Amino acid sequence: MRSSFSSWDNLRVETAALSELFRKLPSVDDVMREPVVSSLAVSYGHDSVVDAARVVLARLRQKIASGLLREDAVELALSGLADAVEDQLRHVLGYSLRPVINATGVILHTNLGRAPLGDAAMEHIRETASSYSNLEFDLAAGVRGKRDVHVDRLFRRLLTEELKSEELKSEEVTSEKMKSAGVRSQKPASVSTIVVNNNAAAVLLALNTVAEGGEVIVSRGELVEIGGSFRIPDVMAKSGAILREVGTTNRTRTADYEHAITERTRLLLRVHRSNFEITGFTERASTAELVTLARKRAVPLMEDLGSGALFDLRSIGINGEPGVLDSLRSGVDIATYSGDKLLGGPQAGLISGGSELIARMRSNSLFRALRADKLIYAALEATLLAYVRRDYDAIPTLRMMRLTKDAIGERAETLAARIAAPKLKVEIVDGESILGGGAAPSSVLPTRVLALTCEGLSADELAACLRGSDPAIIARVEEGRVLLDLRTVFPEQDAAVAAALGRTVA
Ligand SMILES: *Cc1c(COP(=O)(O)O)cnc(C)c1O
Repeated sequence: MRSSFSSWDNLRVETAALSELFRKLPSVDDVMREPVVSSLAVSYGHDSVVDAARVVLARLRQKIASGLLREDAVELALSGLADAVEDQLRHVLGYSLRPVINATGVILHTNLGRAPLGDAAMEHIRETASSYSNLEFDLAAGVRGKRDVHVDRLFRRLLTEELKSEELKSEEVTSEKMKSAGVRSQKPASVSTIVVNNNAAAVLLALNTVAEGGEVIVSRGELVEIGGSFRIPDVMAKSGAILREVGTTNRTRTADYEHAITERTRLLLRVHRSNFEITGFTERASTAELVTLARKRAVPLMEDLGSGALFDLRSIGINGEPGVLDSLRSGVDIATYSGDKLLGGPQAGLISGGSELIARMRSNSLFRALRADKLIYAALEATLLAYVRRDYDAIPTLRMMRLTKDAIGERAETLAARIAAPKLKVEIVDGESILGGGAAPSSVLPTRVLALTCEGLSADELAACLRGSDPAIIARVEEGRVLLDLRTVFPEQDAAVAAALGRTVA
């Protein structure tokens, strides 16, 4: 690099000025002697305060070296040193995992923690986890018990008894027909359910138990990847089962499965296409056809439902998303689903199916490795009890799904009236909420959203400001506007949203 004498001179002058600035910086010990700083040690501990002082001084030194701070700015920074140390301590020793306000209208938002838990679930976690509990203790017999009993009894009520009562109702109509056709009832006599860490673990455990060393037949159109790198072929490989793909991406017929069945076949697997659709020239074997084939060839049929609703989605206008009961009712032997998707509970993987198959999974050593902890059982038990009582409003995600467009619109009007910010333009327009979590990817729930634009800020900048407020507000940006959908905002958070908007724009 070429340089003239004059620039060397400039450099020398600047270096001298810089060392002058560096000399103004106190040592860590000097900072620690400041009364305000030393008093921080009482709540944060001496070592943490020293670390924070070091970080703050290093940051200043770096800013000086890069020429960002001139003399007056350095003086200012030095006068605020104690505050900077405290901010740094708060940042380091504060929680990283924090509550946020979800104004996206995506009910099961995986990035935002999927299903929020209801009050009863939180209370049950608190009362059982802050003390000892009978997690694995049979109080009547005084011997070791199983942790599954706490929720299996409720799943039995929700699944087995429901199926039985339906069967009773339809028995008179169908039993004669079935007898004459030589068909036995397709429903499992008794449904058991076990809990593991998440649905990915549920699929792994089920495949490993039923199909290790053998083949599992799956349609090419269902070899899905779910967010967070859950891929059916990868899980299959880890389970020790061999994937036998049949059909094509867009069309798979029952006959394709049938031709692939050999003595090595252990399982037919159907996977919910959680996050995509195949449209156009398509064909897919129906569950009923697969059940018939599975029975005929004495191979079990498993369905990875993904979301696994325990309530009837048709009641909120969403068709074509099979629930757990739909799946078992049609004769599927094993259904796997998540606890924190449509079920609205804690993160968990649930495997429901015939008692004999489930017992084999329970005695697999993988079950021990994948087991869920007591907090999960507590939250799940409280959530399932709400289903048993049919108290759907006690489950936050179900409450959100059932909100009407009009009710959301009214809240949006009230909130808009509260925002005091002349630079902000607020409109209330029709919009669409989605279930998220891979459920019914093409279905939407009609809603009303606040559409915001702000003088002097782009939509992305406004959304970033909202993320920066405390608690952070997460919004959608669409066509140059920030959209807030109150379907996923708790009503008690409306005031915080209005206040944050006022502050942001001011
Ligand atoms: C979401 C989903 C999974 C993974 O469930 P997690 O509970 O997130 O582990 C697996 N299969 C399908 C079809 C899904 O939709």
